[in-house]
Amino acid sequence: MQFPAGSFERTGTAAGTTPEMCFECGVCWQVYDPTEGDAVAQIPPGTPFDVLPEGWTCPGCEASRHRFMPLPDGHG
Ligand SMILES: [Zn+2]
Repeated sequence: MQFPAGSFERTGTAAGTTPEMCFECGVCWQVYDPTEGDAVAQIPPGTPFDVLPEGWTCPGCEASRHRFMPLPDGHG
């Protein structure tokens, strides 16, 4: 059995996402950048979207985190 060269463990991470990935609010297009965290909710820089607390909401419109979608290209 063969595995792709770039395969990696995906425990607790949504398929196709990485800890560095930015997420965009589906309601107001606010972007969560894990390198910046979220000062509003006192999320420290370097916090992946995956580990945000369940009660975290969009700093722009207070939508739940489930409304966010991954941004494959980031914004760099
Ligand atoms: Zn929003």
